[in-house]
Amino acid sequence: MSANTFTPIALPYAQDALAPVISAETIAFHYGKHLQAYINNLNAALPGSGFEGMTLEEIVRKAEGGIFNNAGQVLNHTLYFTQFKPAGASSVPKGALADAIDRDFGGFEEFKAEFQKKGAGLFGSGWVWLASDADGHLQITQEVNAGNPVRRGLKPLLTFDVWEHAYYLDYQNRRPDHLAALWQIVDWEVVLHRYEAR
Ligand code: MN
Repeated sequence: MSANTFTPIALPYAQDALAPVISAETIAFHYGKHLQAYINNLNAALPGSGFEGMTLEEIVRKAEGGIFNNAGQVLNHTLYFTQFKPAGASSVPKGALADAIDRDFGGFEEFKAEFQKKGAGLFGSGWVWLASDADGHLQITQEVNAGNPVRRGLKPLLTFDVWEHAYYLDYQNRRPDHLAALWQIVDWEVVLHRYEAR
């Protein structure tokens, strides 16, 4: 069985395009160093593990221990870095996703407040997610460390990284301020495509 070799996704924007919400310096470390390290660790661990030839999502659903931790972080950061667009023209949910947010959270403002609260309240390192079930119903999940909603049988749609490496250079200890600012750069077209994908 031939081993997979994972590589970082290309950023769909320039490294300084998300500033001031996320600085170029943070992208340089977060994308350039942290994500690369998870990829290197995963690639090194796969040969002989029994997970060779699986997709990244399959590995995240089935693995435990170090392979799960590194594969989870590769999948999480891939979804994270591809859900943003340059600051300046903020967007809002549209179409079926906007309808589902209204139905399941009572409105976009209510959804944002709950998402930020669950991100700010997650103790330690992890991720807050918007995810959908097989019927298209939405929920917000808190996942510690490398967790991803695919482990619960849900489809991951949007995520905010609450590991300190995601915000410490720009916001120091002010995680809630960082989370509140991220809405300025969410590309809701990407999130809608994920929601509608089957
Ligand atoms: Mn991260």
